[in-house]
Amino acid sequence: MKETIIEQSKEHFGIIISEQLNRVETLKKTDAWIDYEALKPIVIGIIGGDGIGPYIIKEAKRILGFLLEDKVNSGKIQFKEIASLTIERRAELMQAVPDDVLEEIKNCHVILKGPTTTPKKGDTWPNLESANVALRREMDLFANVRPVKVPEQGIDWIFFRENTEGAYILGSKGINVTEDLAVDFKVITTQGAERILRMAFDYAKRNRINKVTVVTKANIIKATDGKFLSVAEQIAEEYPEVEWDHWFVDIFSAKLIDPKRRKEFRVVVLPNLYGDIITDEAAEFQGGVGTAGSANIGTRYAMFEAIHGSAPRMVEEGRAEYANPSSIMRAAVMLLRHIGFDDDAKKLEMALNVCARDKKHVITGRSDGATCSEFADYVLETIQNNEIRRLAIRSR
Ligand code: NAD
Repeated sequence: MKETIIEQSKEHFGIIISEQLNRVETLKKTDAWIDYEALKPIVIGIIGGDGIGPYIIKEAKRILGFLLEDKVNSGKIQFKEIASLTIERRAELMQAVPDDVLEEIKNCHVILKGPTTTPKKGDTWPNLESANVALRREMDLFANVRPVKVPEQGIDWIFFRENTEGAYILGSKGINVTEDLAVDFKVITTQGAERILRMAFDYAKRNRINKVTVVTKANIIKATDGKFLSVAEQIAEEYPEVEWDHWFVDIFSAKLIDPKRRKEFRVVVLPNLYGDIITDEAAEFQGGVGTAGSANIGTRYAMFEAIHGSAPRMVEEGRAEYANPSSIMRAAVMLLRHIGFDDDAKKLEMALNVCARDKKHVITGRSDGATCSEFADYVLETIQNNEIRRLAIRSR
């Protein structure tokens, strides 16, 4: 009996190793980065997702439509609505991302995506893989980039979370060896670590930020986190002008709360699981997950989203229309900047900062606050007012 179990486990492990060795070979053939300037049209896919997703996406799309009107008219930008990445359809087909939806997504260049529900154990939905994990893998979106800014507290962080490896890549391939023994797998490759580390160091160099912090738990998780750290040491040598340090994730998460120390962190690069947890903690300083956007970037595709989930409780309690759209609008800022429209990104970012500061309409997540549609009107009005003020100053 024991021998059979060991043989079955070895076979399972063998398949995983074989798949990962093949993946390494693919990773060695690095693709060139897409050139958005040369593209016409740049196709922006809009995915509502589940729960509060369609509510906040509708407002973000309205604002993007306003900002990009001229570019849509000139044919430089094309919007494409992708409707069926819903939990109902995914459950019906038993696919994390249905094939036809994946094809539609791959016909776009960048995606603005609402959150999608991932069933957990005991849910009424079947045990599907996360649509996000599947999309990151299928589109090779290896970098999850999440900025967090709280100027009044001196916080100006940008996190580069590895998105396609670590504890998540084989999250649904762990095995219950026996009733009493469960085993999961964690993967780090040289190539996977190199590309995220290089992206973080590159960002620091380009933006003249003389500080990169690498976060691991390499003292305990010696093989995978150890590899991430040793690759960091090699990459750092390519950037002698950028200072860097290394922190273990436990003490790093504590020091994020230390008002003196946390100001010193600027560019932070981490493996997948630590990045997921730390960036939610970090977003809390900025006003919670409803205020933070994130980018999932690969060489060919990029996907932008809020860092929170579909908030099913808000929907069940009839509060979906009171969801905060700032998160997905911050993601839209990153999208605009990624495709080269820095001016439009600045307009939206400035308006979001003004709305967060002046608080004429405040989102509370409940009926005592603004609806996401009222908040979007406020953002639009602020963009227009800022523009009028800018033109008036220029004509003086
Ligand atoms: P969640 O982020 O959806 O919501 C937790 C709580 O945060 C909500 O109940 C609400 O009080 C608050 N909240 C979140 N977004 C808000 C907003 N825009 N405005 C106001 N309040 C907001 O976390 P969860 O309940 O753990 O996850 C729900 C589902 O979303 C799960 O199925 C999870 O797997 C999925 N999820 C998806 C993504 C994604 O698609 N990128 C990310 C995280 C979680």
